[in-house]
Amino acid sequence: MSASKNRRVVLAARPRGLPKPSDFRIEEAPIPQPQDGEVLLGVRYLSLDPYMRGRMDDRKSYAAPTALGQEMEGGTVATVLESRHPDFRPGETVLSYSGWQSHAVAKADELRKLDPKDAPVTTALGVLGMPGFTAYVGLGNIGKPKPGETVVVAAASGPVGSAVGQIAKIRGAWAVGIAGGKAKCDFVVDALGFDACLDHSAGDFPAQLAKACPRGIDVYFENVGGAVWDAVFPLLNDFARIPVCGLIAQYNADGDFPGPDRLPVVMRQVLSKRFQIQGFIQFDYEEQRPDFYRDMAQWIREGRVKYREDILEGLEQAPEGLIGLLQGRNFGKLIVRVAKD
Ligand code: NDP
Repeated sequence: MSASKNRRVVLAARPRGLPKPSDFRIEEAPIPQPQDGEVLLGVRYLSLDPYMRGRMDDRKSYAAPTALGQEMEGGTVATVLESRHPDFRPGETVLSYSGWQSHAVAKADELRKLDPKDAPVTTALGVLGMPGFTAYVGLGNIGKPKPGETVVVAAASGPVGSAVGQIAKIRGAWAVGIAGGKAKCDFVVDALGFDACLDHSAGDFPAQLAKACPRGIDVYFENVGGAVWDAVFPLLNDFARIPVCGLIAQYNADGDFPGPDRLPVVMRQVLSKRFQIQGFIQFDYEEQRPDFYRDMAQWIREGRVKYREDILEGLEQAPEGLIGLLQGRNFGKLIVRVAKD
């Protein structure tokens, strides 16, 4: 495909269950032209995130679904190719929301300039971007760990979970991660400094979790739901806080959930143990973004927060990348390199 065209990945069909490659279609389109107040962007990096699965369904949610035939949405790092706004010059690097495509037009107020001297620009999609911010606001406003308390988080090697555990450690808590497989668990303990990490695919996972949390669980940062929630639930202490951030184990559910209705049992415990369960979407805390940039940049500089990125080569890898993410095949913040630096 020639570089004189915009390459893009559109939603071809609404998935049933786990998406398939045929639910996506790669297309070429003319490169769009910027109008006054706009810039033309060449996309360099595309972030792949679990929320993209939700956009593929035609269901009422906190954000509108992607229309059939429309390019998939997503956060991007891009280079300004052409500018019709006085604040932007060709060659500058920006954070944009350009979606799964090689070129896009954006309004100036939708962009944030990035200085590659401050940090690798890919971090604007992960630890210094939306996922890191999610961890920061969810733990800071709802989880509120105190020194000595036990914080548990799953998807612990990913961008949200890894930041949750490391911020919990900075706050003086005991951090227990949950991840898929030994390699991820070793990384979470050895490189990220969690106190323990358990493999949720192990047959005796609930017993291992109980052993790793001898004083019970005070904060459960909910990223996955499903069997992990079942193992966590009996270990929750009185007054436990549960920021409900994501339920990735359910995102591919097609129809009713199996098993008996457990809501009465859950609600009895919510009452008797006085749990605080609160769902949130990161943009609910927009006003805390400057604090986040300040604190997270400092923690990274001091080596108190580390991160891992998993970079795929080429826009055509994006569909398989998202399908793999929903099954735990990524190892770290999943990013697609759309164009070479
Ligand atoms: P990750 O990059 O960590 O990728 C998702 C991970 O989820 C997989 O790698 C896998 O890790 C784990 N996973 C997938 N299926 C299951 C399962 N059935 N049981 C247990 N673990 C599973 O994702 P993010 O860090 O970007 O996102 C983490 C969560 O945060 C998601 O639920 C996402 O939707 C949510 N989120 C919410 C936001 C909000 O504003 N509320 C904003 C951003 C993210 P493993 O192999 O270790 O199991």
